[in-house]
Amino acid sequence: MIPVSKPFFPNREKLKSYIDGIYDRQWLTNNGQLVQELTERLEEYLGVANLLLVSNGTLALQIVYRTLGVNDTAPGAQPEAITTPFSFIATASSLKWEGVQPVFADIDRDTWCLNPTNIEAVITQNTRAIVPVHVFGNACNVEAIDTIAQKHRLKVIYDASHAFGVNYKGESLLTHGDAATLSFHATKLFHTGEGGAIIFKRKEDLERAKKMINFGITGPESIEELGINAKMNELQAAMGLCVLDEMEANLQARKQVWQSYQLAMPENLQLQARHEDLDYNFAYFPVVFESEEQAVRVAATLKENGVLARRYFYPSLESVACLEAQVAQPVSQDIASRILCLPIYADLEPEVQNRVVHLIEVELKA
Ligand SMILES: *Cc1c(COP(=O)(O)O)cnc(C)c1O
Repeated sequence: MIPVSKPFFPNREKLKSYIDGIYDRQWLTNNGQLVQELTERLEEYLGVANLLLVSNGTLALQIVYRTLGVNDTAPGAQPEAITTPFSFIATASSLKWEGVQPVFADIDRDTWCLNPTNIEAVITQNTRAIVPVHVFGNACNVEAIDTIAQKHRLKVIYDASHAFGVNYKGESLLTHGDAATLSFHATKLFHTGEGGAIIFKRKEDLERAKKMINFGITGPESIEELGINAKMNELQAAMGLCVLDEMEANLQARKQVWQSYQLAMPENLQLQARHEDLDYNFAYFPVVFESEEQAVRVAATLKENGVLARRYFYPSLESVACLEAQVAQPVSQDIASRILCLPIYADLEPEVQNRVVHLIEVELKA
């Protein structure tokens, strides 16, 4: 079966040489040499400061909420954060897990990111933060979101799990917000097997989070505050260093795949509208079909022919019962019901890609 995404496996000999180093130093975790090296290299590669490596992208979000005090509120009041219903479950479930009620605001029909015009209507006195997602690596309307956040004194946390290496107006998209988080899960563009990172705007937030990811421990006999274990280890960092070395080749190969899809897609299908000042990372190829029935039929035909297209992101998150959301989000529901992500990864064979395109064309004519 052709998967929708495939982990990038870097050069095996290089990974072995990093693992030899781990054996030589006899050091596996707790801010080891490779974690430090990967931190520096990622800051340089991405063009950001105050980057903290963590064990996965979900804990990255949870640590940020705690660091920025999103979950503190007056006794008896339920803190809330405004977020998008069109994302992976972890964006909203991480809030709920931290005792913060996710309150959804609907997305823009073209960019599929949180629509800023829907945010103000759902702000209450318990709202602490806005948690937008740069979905599929597209930039949110960061200027409008920033204006709303300043006016209402809210924190802004971008779930930038899809936006590794994306630049907006000549700068890293990750510099926007009080913090941005990344996921380095195996299926993401850049990965460490499991892993993640936080990019903080302020150094003092970085320093606080560094303690939090290590149980709040600040010295051999001192525990300063409540913490958890969210540290990245040396084996994860070794994988990351190797993947980073081959990032340019990976990106070029994906760009080829992405552009071939774009050229071949029938006109009546909707692609994501992106800001023209965005340097994209070619991480995903989502397509919105004319109807849900058509999208489901295409997915079934592809599957019969050995190709797994996925309904990312479906269902729209306000319909997930455990999140206890109250209000339907019609634009998100509509896009979620008609979308499919097509297979994209560096070594996707052109003949497989042609087969995918051909099967879609046939289904559309049916
Ligand atoms: C992958 C992903 C996450 C979760 O990251 P993990 O590293 O798997 O914990 C969160 N948000 C979004 C939008 C994602 O795509």
